[in-house]
Amino acid sequence: MSDASGDPANTSSGSGRTRSSAEILASRQRHFGRGLSLSYRDPLTIAGGRGQYLYDENGEPYLDCVNNVCHVGHCHPKVVSAAASQMAVLNTNTRYLHPLLSEYLERLTATLPDPLSVCYLVCSGSEANELALRLARNYTGAEYVVALEAAYHGNTRAVIDVSEYKFGGPGGRGKPETTHVVPMPCVFRGRHRSDDASDADARREVGLAYAKHVEEAVASIVALGRKPAAFICESMLGVGGQIILPEGYLAASFAAVRAAGGVAIADEVQVGFGRCGEKFWAFEMQDVVPDIVVLGKPIGNGHPMAAVITTPEISEAFDNGMEYFNTFGGNPVSCAVGLAVLDVIEEEGLQRHALEVGSSLIRDLREALDDVDVVGEVRGKGLFIGIELIDGEAREQRIPNSDEAYRVVEALKEQRILLSVDGPDHNVIKFKPPMVFSRDDADRLVEALRREVRSPRR
Ligand code: PMP
Repeated sequence: MSDASGDPANTSSGSGRTRSSAEILASRQRHFGRGLSLSYRDPLTIAGGRGQYLYDENGEPYLDCVNNVCHVGHCHPKVVSAAASQMAVLNTNTRYLHPLLSEYLERLTATLPDPLSVCYLVCSGSEANELALRLARNYTGAEYVVALEAAYHGNTRAVIDVSEYKFGGPGGRGKPETTHVVPMPCVFRGRHRSDDASDADARREVGLAYAKHVEEAVASIVALGRKPAAFICESMLGVGGQIILPEGYLAASFAAVRAAGGVAIADEVQVGFGRCGEKFWAFEMQDVVPDIVVLGKPIGNGHPMAAVITTPEISEAFDNGMEYFNTFGGNPVSCAVGLAVLDVIEEEGLQRHALEVGSSLIRDLREALDDVDVVGEVRGKGLFIGIELIDGEAREQRIPNSDEAYRVVEALKEQRILLSVDGPDHNVIKFKPPMVFSRDDADRLVEALRREVRSPRR
């Protein structure tokens, strides 16, 4: 695991000329596709990364508390070396036999419960969810999908259609007829609440109340004379605001959609590979086995790869004569990278590390922020944590406090700590760092937040 010492900043362009941040920004504004926001009022130029640190163009280290893509640490030497070595030998597609593909598929599927044993390798989370929907629709012969409010599953047309965050947000074209949206199962501020987030029985009651909405959505699809193709849900909600699903939610929701002939898709793009600490896959915390699991971001530690894993039955139905070819998915370099990521998670004990560091960090944050008016809830599992900020003057009403969330995130940037804001009301400070985030880093974060999140409760 890394400390903050080190160098690695390089803002040279391909031609070797160094560019200033202003030059990079001006060029980007001119040539890069519009409609993408940059982080921070005064954007950062990031020129290097190592472990849990990012480095600006002057080599100044920033503690990265948000990058769940570089899961085992930025530029992990073992992953870099696996990619470079294989790149020097061969990179081609999956129309040839290659031992790395077989080895990777065996290792990856071994992490999943039966009957999840058949894998499609693709290049992004969006592409993986797109394929997951195709598999579900093909298997069921149905079109309708039940998806969560504020969900995000990717950037292609088909996945935007099941991502309320996009179709219901600025520029969105509204809900397609084939999508049924159910309330986000937020125990703190949603439609069904529990005042004691640590009471598992109360959380289960709330979980079942939320699953009732899935049952109702399924019933309304059936009432149209149709059936659902799928229920799609993240195993912990990212864009939704770092939400930990209440107990029993997935089991009851999966049962409802399956009873009507649909399948269950678990989107683990943000949260998989041991991040939640207790389990390797976050859906396992809910004691369920999905029919289709979608993996992305951390799978390649920054190398663009993703995967869909399903049952032999669903995969066989998809083998209907129309080939599924993917030029880059499953290439030998990606397989070498994927294997190296799995090795590092195991060798460095990162799942256990996430559990230990995450649990004590959640406890310390709760303690440090307990007397702060604007802190509504600190929630999380492992190294996936959210701090929900509310209006401190009217705590009972739990009114989202987006201004304060952005203010804190900007202020922590000045202390070289990178966080971000999420949730449908933009009031949740989001924490999902590289898994090598250490106890010392956690202490530093708690201290910085303790100082910055002001307005003590009277
Ligand atoms: N699913 C979830 C839950 C995501 O958060 C994202 C990306 N933020 C995606 C899918 C899409 O992944 P990608 O950006 O790799 O296409």
